Amino acid sequence: MLTDFPSDRCTTNLSLIGPKVEGLRETFAAGHTKNIEWRIAQLEQIKKLVLVHQDEILAALQKDLGRCDMESWTAELGGVVSEVEHTVKHLKKWMKPRHVSTPIVAQPGKSYVLPEPLGTVLIIGAWNYPLLLVLGPLIAAISAGNCALIKPSELSPNTSALMAQQIPKYLDQQAVVVVEGAVDETSELLQNQFDHIIYTGGEVVGKIVMRAAAEFLTPVTLELGGKSPCIVDSNTDLEVTASRIVWSKFMNAGQTCVAPDYVLVEKSFAPQLIEAIKVKIEAFYSANIAKSDDYGRIVNARHFSRLITYLDGQNIVFGGDSDADSSYIQPTIVLDPALNSPLMEQEIFGPILPIITLENIQQAVPFVSKRAKPLSLYLYTKNKDFEQTVLQQTSAGMVGVNDGFMFATNPNLPFGGVGNSGMGAYHGKTGFDNFSHLKTVMKRSFWFDVPLRYPPFTSKKFKILKKLL
Ligand code: NAD
Repeated sequence: MLTDFPSDRCTTNLSLIGPKVEGLRETFAAGHTKNIEWRIAQLEQIKKLVLVHQDEILAALQKDLGRCDMESWTAELGGVVSEVEHTVKHLKKWMKPRHVSTPIVAQPGKSYVLPEPLGTVLIIGAWNYPLLLVLGPLIAAISAGNCALIKPSELSPNTSALMAQQIPKYLDQQAVVVVEGAVDETSELLQNQFDHIIYTGGEVVGKIVMRAAAEFLTPVTLELGGKSPCIVDSNTDLEVTASRIVWSKFMNAGQTCVAPDYVLVEKSFAPQLIEAIKVKIEAFYSANIAKSDDYGRIVNARHFSRLITYLDGQNIVFGGDSDADSSYIQPTIVLDPALNSPLMEQEIFGPILPIITLENIQQAVPFVSKRAKPLSLYLYTKNKDFEQTVLQQTSAGMVGVNDGFMFATNPNLPFGGVGNSGMGAYHGKTGFDNFSHLKTVMKRSFWFDVPLRYPPFTSKKFKILKKLL
């Protein structure tokens, strides 16, 4: 398989985990992580780490996921660098008290919201974008003035090991700790009290994390996945649509939480769309995709066989080739799979694109809305009324109209799911707020102390109060 750094090397002595968490709590209590200078210095160090070690990081991502450098840079390293830059630029403003108006009954007085850090944040990362999904939440946690404990995914062991080596060299070791490991280490971590947990991964473990967090009433952010639909109206720009579907579906060999999981299209338009998608697949990755340096690999043997099983008995209209030794699965299109087949019941998370045909594209709305709320939804159309219908009658964490997951590049937009696809969100100020407590403050003047609210209560006071409130 791909990895030359076996995942069982990514372990941590379980007895060391409790003291590490305790150490972080002591650091937070000492107070220095609250200073803006500390926060900015740490953020700049994250950027430096990524830039100085970019070649090693790209090599680790290549070993973990067979991913080419340009895809890794744009999807992960570049994302970290721009998130740091955006955060550093705006942090002073985000940390300021947020003044709001004060009602007449509380005059004279001032009201504001004062963001304060929560304490120690546990960041549990996933393997598919193993750098971004750890450093992205870390940027948000540090920007808000927290300490953090990072647990990278054991399924991307080269990136995990690199972060465990480099993070202590660049960041304040008293405030940021990396614990490598798998189920045992994560289970041990969850026995400890944190002030917030952000987990990225699948639904089953999301529930385990939430159950453990409930013991301490710890708030959680769950960045999960699900089946993200892609609705293609025949009233679209076919060529651009096909390019964007292929780009967003087959990047990282389909192992992207916000990849379109399946396409919904009118039966009469499906042949043209399928043809356009095939043309783009070959234009992007050549006719011999297995030899393309630009196409990634499946992370491990378990996920490889899971994906191959999904193809059993399906109507494959393009692709279908695979090679277990190199963890390769060709971009594959399946036409009209049974809706109760595993391909349509599980999140695919790989390079298989089911195309579901409908008599009328309007049927896409009930198709989506009667299923679990997806992490993202894509709509390709030039019809503004249909766009509004889809936006208003379906629910999803995020929506891309006429493109794939370009919304993830905008730090002004929250990144997160809804319902089964998760809770809470981060990126930019949303991330800062997510890892802050937005503390209510009202400051009253001693002057003009109206006795209206104090006993003894009289009917006259009651009448006036009713008018005021
Ligand atoms: P994974 O296997 O890497 O697991 C995620 C983390 O959970 C790892 O750190 C792992 O050690 C830990 N873990 C695994 N089993 C555990 C257990 N029994 N107890 C405690 N901890 C455990 O990731 P995955 O679940 O294969 O990730 C794929 C899923 O993640 C997909 O559903 C995908 O859509 C979703 N995802 C979501 C986002 C997002 O931002 N919303 C991003 C990437 C992936």
